[in-house]
Amino acid sequence: MKILVTGGCGFIGSHTVVDLLNEGYEVIIVDNLVNSKIDVLDKIKKITNKSVKFYQYDLCDYTKLDSLFKEEEIDAVIHFAGLKAVSESVEKPLMYYENNLYSTINLLKCMMKYNVKKIVFSSSATVYGSPKSLPIYEDFPLSTTNPYGTTKLMIENILTDLYKADNSFDITILRYFNPIGAHKSGLLGEDPNGIPNNLMPYIVKVATHELPILSIFGDDYDTVDGTGVRDFIHVCDLSYGHVLALKNKKEGLKIYNLGTGQGTSVLELVKMFEKVNNVEVNYKIVGRRDGDIASCYASNKKAQEELGFKPKYNLEDMCRDSYNFVKSNR
Ligand code: NAD
Ligand code: UDP
Repeated sequence: MKILVTGGCGFIGSHTVVDLLNEGYEVIIVDNLVNSKIDVLDKIKKITNKSVKFYQYDLCDYTKLDSLFKEEEIDAVIHFAGLKAVSESVEKPLMYYENNLYSTINLLKCMMKYNVKKIVFSSSATVYGSPKSLPIYEDFPLSTTNPYGTTKLMIENILTDLYKADNSFDITILRYFNPIGAHKSGLLGEDPNGIPNNLMPYIVKVATHELPILSIFGDDYDTVDGTGVRDFIHVCDLSYGHVLALKNKKEGLKIYNLGTGQGTSVLELVKMFEKVNNVEVNYKIVGRRDGDIASCYASNKKAQEELGFKPKYNLEDMCRDSYNFVKSNR
């Protein structure tokens, strides 16, 4: 089976490509490398001993994408490509709407034209806005607080409408919680340029003294220690969820949360990171960050029951692997 992986050089995409190759799928990556590097392809080969075909195309370029679909006989698509930085999306909303929506519409138009009807889409827990209770179930009301989140919700709506118009489509929407960790080899992981927005890359940069101190955004939430609570999931558990989604026998439009179901506070994560890696992470408590919610964790019951999704890595693994990746690549 030939799978087109958009954004396959990125953090989650690259781990998923490794899983797909290990499971015997043929993989084609399309990525414009706006947030990733070409050397990921060599690293994937080093880990799996298998090669992938790579197209350095922007999905917003319909003509090029059409030529790819004409050239390759694609059976299914996993669509990771997109811009994902919340704060940047607030500053540059048009860039986010343009990139994330045009790319997806072009992709879906090509899928229609070449009769490729199976797609797995990367959505996010951000579409739940401020949840009414916890854990979060898939049928909770949806709302967003920033342009990035709105692009995710708009794409979910586009996919839903497409399915209504043509129910031969087989669509899986995966709502990710907070992926951290890295591949055991130390070859693949997340290493954003500049100052990270997300917690784990920030913690790692403080631990390696690239940044002086972590600011913890608020300690006055109604949580175990006042700091925000999130559902951190190892990227390798998350990536394997995509293999399970491809293998799922259930047809139609399906939506699954991919999280561990466990809430961990920011401070608990920092303490665990220090303990596991035997390092100190300097931190200070500052005011809340705009748009943040107190707590967010998944019910992954539906993914467990219908996909057989069962995360196997714990918080210690996530902390160890995140640090190992950055140390190995310095
Ligand atoms: P990433 O930035 O590491 O990977 C995305 C990849 O898409 C990059 O390699 C980038 O170069 C590519 N890309 C972006 N726009 C493109 C375009 N127009 N044409 C071709 N390639 C393009 O991000 P990630 O963390 O691997 O996330 C993958 C997907 O999962 C994204 O859609 C993201 O919004 C979603 N998601 C991520 C998280 C997270 O915390 N990492 C959480 C929820 C959802
Ligand atoms: N956070 C923090 N300091 C940082 C980055 C994040 O205290 O430098 C907190 C943030 O307020 C939230 C949690 O860490 O409670 C996770 O934030 P992240 O941006 O990683 O993911 P989000 O859940 O917001 O998508």
